[in-house]
Amino acid sequence: MRHRIAVIGGGPAGLTFARVLRRHDHPVTVLERDPAPDARPPGGTLDLHEKMGQLALVKAGLLAEFQAMSRPEGQAMRILDTDGTVLRDWQPRPDDRANPEIDRGQLRDLLLGPLDVQWGRSVTEVVPGTRDGVLVRFADGRQETFDLVVGADGAWSRVRPAVSSATPHYTGITSVETSLNDVDTRHPGLARLIGDGSMAVYGVNRALVAQRNSGGHVKVYAQFRAPLDWHTNPDRHLGLNRRAGLDAGLGLADVEAVRSSVLALFDGWAAPVLDLLRHGTAFVHRPLYVLPVSHTWAHVPGVTLLGDAAHLMPPLGVGANLAMLEGAELAESVAAAPGPGPDEAVRAFEEQMWARAGRWAEITAAGLERLVSPDPTEALALFDEVQPS
Ligand SMILES: Cc1cc2nc3c(=O)[nH]c(=O)nc-3n(C[C@H](O)[C@H](O)[C@H](O)COP(=O)(O)OP(=O)(O)OC[C@H]3O[C@@H](n4cnc5c(N)ncnc54)[C@H](O)[C@@H]3O)c2cc1C
Repeated sequence: MRHRIAVIGGGPAGLTFARVLRRHDHPVTVLERDPAPDARPPGGTLDLHEKMGQLALVKAGLLAEFQAMSRPEGQAMRILDTDGTVLRDWQPRPDDRANPEIDRGQLRDLLLGPLDVQWGRSVTEVVPGTRDGVLVRFADGRQETFDLVVGADGAWSRVRPAVSSATPHYTGITSVETSLNDVDTRHPGLARLIGDGSMAVYGVNRALVAQRNSGGHVKVYAQFRAPLDWHTNPDRHLGLNRRAGLDAGLGLADVEAVRSSVLALFDGWAAPVLDLLRHGTAFVHRPLYVLPVSHTWAHVPGVTLLGDAAHLMPPLGVGANLAMLEGAELAESVAAAPGPGPDEAVRAFEEQMWARAGRWAEITAAGLERLVSPDPTEALALFDEVQPS
């Protein structure tokens, strides 16, 4: 029996789900809002864990290709004090494949492979329980029905309201992201400072993290505690003490105004660390939102959620891994489901997903509190607890 299955969203969760279903010869419709794979910058680098993201790739038959393109050396992690002193400098063994890094765009292309994604299909609403199945409405006015609709449409899911009234809330910690290109040739000193993987500096209620992507590209994240609207009066909200202060708001699209405020926030930190911000190109404001820890819902036949749509959590290296593993597991369960419909398989999957995601949501929420903390030694202690020696 072939069920009509649609997955909404072509991120790590949705694409892994579709690839694994296809591997089991089950048809699936992939509906993605973006008009094309390269319609927007794909984002930074992801580390895929052996027992999560990599396990999902095994289930998709893609591990060997991943190993050929990922960066095991990217697991390296360095922590500096705000004065530039190196506090920790962890290097992976040459054969360490526990958490290699891969650019998000490379992972997307790997997962896409032969999948026939319907681009430019923005879902607005999902209505379960109609006579012909689950109704999906699109922004262009069209609608279609399916037996199973899988919401893999991320933090601001349009599928989620069909099963749950939960919405993401702001953590009180925001992030401003900038990038450096051709770092090895244009900024060799910064390239050495960052090393092969990631570099982080933790101060009071703020942190600066730089992560190497492939091709000499580096993403820098300035994370700090601030009200969501800090930019409406940065000097007051960030407690800045600038000689030529701003008594008005700044436009988040004004690169130099954002750079100047973020530099003022990290004033007094070592010059090479601040150079990461001085040489950064565009600045993008990314407030950190989360869903309630242990988000569950009363099962709704024909609709379920995966990944960030189900359990948005702080970006501590787990979200994409969970999203992929869930996609692979749900696909295997649905493909193996006997009888008239996959509902029992979906119900069992949800129980398993909730239990595991709930544990990770707690761990990452506590982790974020320690990484951007009034006591910066907490961040170092956390690193020592989780990093293999
Ligand atoms: C800075 C940062 C660094 C991170 N680093 C890591 C890391 O190292 N390791 C890790 O495991 N996780 C990491 N994460 C978390 C990870 O990015 C997410 O958990 C992961 O992307 C979730 O995948 P997803 O498929 O559920 O959702 P998404 O990646 O958000 O994909 C959702 C997809 O749905 C589409 N969509 C949205 N709305 C609609 C709609 N209405 N109709 C149709 N399509 C729609 C979107 O265009 C998108 O393609 C990081 C996050 C951030 C912010």
